[in-house]
Amino acid sequence: MKLGASYFGSRILRHVKEDMKMMVGDGCNFVVHTMSEHDVTYHSGTMIDIVRISQEVGLEVFLDPWGVGRVFGGESFSSFVQTYPKCRQRLNFPEGELWVNKACLNAKTFRDNMLTWIELAAKTGAEGVLWDEPHLFFGEFTPLFGDTKRDIWGCNCERCNDVFKSIYGYEIPPDFTDDIKAFRQMTIVNFLEFLADEASKKGLKNSVCLFPIKDPKYGIYDWEKVAMIKSIDVLGSDPYWYSYNQDVVEFVGRISEDVRILSGKYDKEPQIWIQGYRVPAYREEEIAMAIDVAFRSGIRNIATWSFDGTDCITYVRSERPEIVWQNVRNAYLKYHV
Ligand SMILES: [Zn+2]
Repeated sequence: MKLGASYFGSRILRHVKEDMKMMVGDGCNFVVHTMSEHDVTYHSGTMIDIVRISQEVGLEVFLDPWGVGRVFGGESFSSFVQTYPKCRQRLNFPEGELWVNKACLNAKTFRDNMLTWIELAAKTGAEGVLWDEPHLFFGEFTPLFGDTKRDIWGCNCERCNDVFKSIYGYEIPPDFTDDIKAFRQMTIVNFLEFLADEASKKGLKNSVCLFPIKDPKYGIYDWEKVAMIKSIDVLGSDPYWYSYNQDVVEFVGRISEDVRILSGKYDKEPQIWIQGYRVPAYREEEIAMAIDVAFRSGIRNIATWSFDGTDCITYVRSERPEIVWQNVRNAYLKYHV
């Protein structure tokens, strides 16, 4: 049984060490450390130390490109998008050029930047990496267009247009058509395959976490396309029921089943993420229900976002982080072997 949590918020080694020991005592055998652009620039040596002390207490370590290029999940700024404004995603606004602060997945400069990230990840000695919620921009705008809903999406820059044209034989259209939906999905899948192949060459295991909603606006709507990537080892999703306002048992159960079945078909290890952030007060016991339902669905790799009920970060902090983590701990110790 694999049980873990993500960790961020401290770069002071003695505190990290204490927390890692606590995680082990609470039933964890792996940790996902975030490694943001800030970490790559200013904490490269510290990250190596953090990985080492985590492994010393017995944890397997995965690293996560937290908010890198703003195309993965994560509460972290990107200096890449400021430094390379033309490597951002361009939106389908016919009224004029509009670029968002998210990197274009087809931009070579961004891919090179990701190679640097992978290089450092390998250098730390971590066992693997987690590609968390890779996505493209999508927004629904109504007030701007006289009460008509318009789907605004990225990326339709020249690079993406060239790729689109070479496949579909015509210029990238402004509307959110079926071809665009398929093209965006393919863009993310190709990007993931590029990352996973490179990480795999460096001896890192690859895990991926997909949004639990299979809707083209989230980018990937056919999970099988991701499951087919050979260099992916762990296939996961994050049915965060508080955030999506869903019933815990139904939502976590359904997504766990989907992940398990698809993982079985493509020989991947299925993983489910449990919501341990923005947990409303007095609903913390739903965490134990979520872990139970994932386990009953055959999931043997369960992770919580994040350690300590996400106490260290206002934006996603739980109302009672201590109670949140107590619930995680109780459930983990029940399944810990
Ligand atoms: Zn682009």
